[in-house]
Amino acid sequence: MRTALMGLDLGGTNIKSVLLDARSLKVIIKRQIPTLAHLGSGAVIRILAGEIRYLLRVAGSKNISVTAIGLGSAGLVNRGTVRNSPNLPGWQGAVPLERLLKKELPGLKIPLTIDNDANCFALAETFCGAGKGFQNVVGLTLGTGVGGGLVLDGKLYRGSTGGAGELGHTSIKYDGPRCLCGNRGCLEAMVGSVAIVKRYNDLRFRRHLPLVPDITVAIISSRAKKRDTAAVRTLAETGTLLGVGLANYLNTFNPQAVVIGGGVAQAGKYILDPAIKEMKQRAMPFNVLGIKVKAARLGPWAGAIGAALLTKSDNQNRQD
Ligand SMILES: [Zn+2]
Repeated sequence: MRTALMGLDLGGTNIKSVLLDARSLKVIIKRQIPTLAHLGSGAVIRILAGEIRYLLRVAGSKNISVTAIGLGSAGLVNRGTVRNSPNLPGWQGAVPLERLLKKELPGLKIPLTIDNDANCFALAETFCGAGKGFQNVVGLTLGTGVGGGLVLDGKLYRGSTGGAGELGHTSIKYDGPRCLCGNRGCLEAMVGSVAIVKRYNDLRFRRHLPLVPDITVAIISSRAKKRDTAAVRTLAETGTLLGVGLANYLNTFNPQAVVIGGGVAQAGKYILDPAIKEMKQRAMPFNVLGIKVKAARLGPWAGAIGAALLTKSDNQNRQD
C-alpha cells in the first residue's frame, strides 16, 4: 500500500494542507481553505480537525495509508502548546493545540506533531527545496515578521523549550527601533516589511520627494527594477543589515547553506547581493568558505510540506 505524510500550515488567512508520498516526498494532494480566525480558536481547531478528517477520507479512497500528521503554526511551539501566535486574534496566551485537536479527533491512531511554521519552512527547504543535499541549513523567512529555522546535522534543532531558531529576534543594533517582541534593534525590526517601507518613506522625505501612498515592499521592488534610486538604496541598506544577521548565523552554526524565503525575498538581488557582500565581510573566513545563500524554492507551500516532514525529522532524532 502506498503511504503518505500529511502536513497542515495554519496561517492567519488560510490553512494550506498537503499529502506527501512518504518515499519520494512528492506532493500528491494540496488544498487551501480559509482559516476564519475571527471566529476564535475553538472554531479554528474544529476547521483543522475537519480538514484532517477530509484528507484521511481522500487518502483512504485512493488506497493511501497516512502514517503521520504534522501541523505548523506561527508562535512559540513547545510540546504541542502554542504561545504568542501573532496571526490569530484571541490566541495571545498559551493554547494546548495538540490536546484540543486530538479531542476533536477521537480514535486518531496516527502520530500528530505540531511545530513553529518557520521550523517547518526550514525542514521543507532542506528535504525538498533549495537546501536539498545539505545537512546544515539556516532557513530564514522575510516578511512582516522574520522567522527562522535550523536544520543541524540533518535534523530540526528545537533547543530546550522549542525556542531555538528565533533568528528574526537576534539583535542587529543595540539601540535600534523597538521590535514587537519588546527588544530593540532585532533583525525583524530592521529588515521586516514595516521597516523597509519606513526606510523608503524616510529617504524620499529627506530627498524632498513626494511620499507614495499605500507603498509596499512589492512596489518598492518593482520601482527598484525601474531604477528608482531611493528604492534601490532602500533595498541595499536593508540587505546590508540582513548581511549583519547572516554573518552572526554563519559564525554561530557554520551552515552549508542559508535559504531565504518570504515575500520580502522577492526583491531578489536588490537585497541579497548587498546581504551576501556584508555577510562575507563580517563572518569568519572559514565560515564563509563554500557557503551557499539560496532563494527558497517551495514558495507558499513550504510550511505545509515541512509540517508533513516533522515526524520524519523526529524519527531521525530518536534513532541517534
Ligand atoms: Zn524582536
